[in-house]
Amino acid sequence: TRTPVNVTVTGAAGQIGYALLFRIASGHLLGADVPVKLRLLEIPQAVKAAEGTAMELDDCAFPLLQGIDIADDPNVAFDGANIALLVGARPRTKGMERGDLLEANGGIFKPQGKAINDHAADDIKVLVVGNPANTNARIAQAAAPDVPIERFTAMTRLDHNRAVTQLAKKTGVSVSDVKKLTIWGNHSATQYPDIFHAEVAGKNAAEAVNDEAWLADTFIPTVAKRGAAIIEARGASSAASAANAAIDHVHTWVNGTAAGDWTSMGIPSDGSYGVPEGIISSFPVTTKDGKYEIVQGLEINDFSRQRIDASVAELVEEREAVKGLGLI
Ligand code: NDP
Repeated sequence: TRTPVNVTVTGAAGQIGYALLFRIASGHLLGADVPVKLRLLEIPQAVKAAEGTAMELDDCAFPLLQGIDIADDPNVAFDGANIALLVGARPRTKGMERGDLLEANGGIFKPQGKAINDHAADDIKVLVVGNPANTNARIAQAAAPDVPIERFTAMTRLDHNRAVTQLAKKTGVSVSDVKKLTIWGNHSATQYPDIFHAEVAGKNAAEAVNDEAWLADTFIPTVAKRGAAIIEARGASSAASAANAAIDHVHTWVNGTAAGDWTSMGIPSDGSYGVPEGIISSFPVTTKDGKYEIVQGLEINDFSRQRIDASVAELVEEREAVKGLGLI
């Protein structure tokens, strides 16, 4: 029998946590033959709610679930962690300045990064979901100097999946016929979903669409503002699709991308495509054997360049702000 993989989830009692934990335990994160142990991290006031979720996980009698531990101390929750899903974050409340938001999240992600540094397993892989995800990932990474920098990633897979579906609908193909789509930049309103290298049923997507006005005025804003549209429609945030994207991100990272396709991940830049080194920005990546690589050599046209640069500029501003706060 295989040794269980330790999966730590923060903010486990939240909406995304509730949609996420059952799928991890049923084998969707790593595979139907990989046993898992769950470590749930919550703030003290939410530990009781996490215990309730753990009771439900018990009641599912998942064959792959080998244990559940609940903690309010990151040093305990990340002990021996192989995979860490950092979901809990400080949401922006009305009237909150960006500096206050970043500072509040620094208070969460800096100690979590340190705890990962000191206690996680050598093969730790980190996905940050809690917003502002890219910069929260940068803060955690900076607090973990002994962990290889590339193990810290931020989620843009939900944006990627949203863009795949919008493009499939527009061109009348099924989602599995959409390949090589890219989200560039920040997981924010400035993100850039790029279809210029994408394929729909084997044809270039931009040529198949052949409608730059649709791209600029419909596609990009629909993808970027989808979260707000869902809140407006269902009166609650897009927790289930966010949880699904977190599952997809880690599953792809661990198990690889298909031949002839790639995915989008927020990862520390190595300077590719003019994105300053160290910034956690979304790129097109292929994955294999638990490692990812940026897809190189794509030609970036003016339409794309402008939008990538704008989103990266926002990430640079966030970096300067957290530097000013002494968080990195
Ligand atoms: P959710 O579970 O709905 O969301 C958690 C985080 O995910 C938020 O930062 C949210 O950002 C982000 N997110 C990213 N993508 C999406 C998406 N598509 N849809 C919705 N959210 C998205 O929040 P809850 O308030 O229900 O739960 C948060 C939990 O975290 C609480 O139980 C709280 O106690 C806990 N927490 C735990 C901490 C810890 O473990 N140390 C620290 C802080 C909080 P956005 O705000 O932009 O929606």
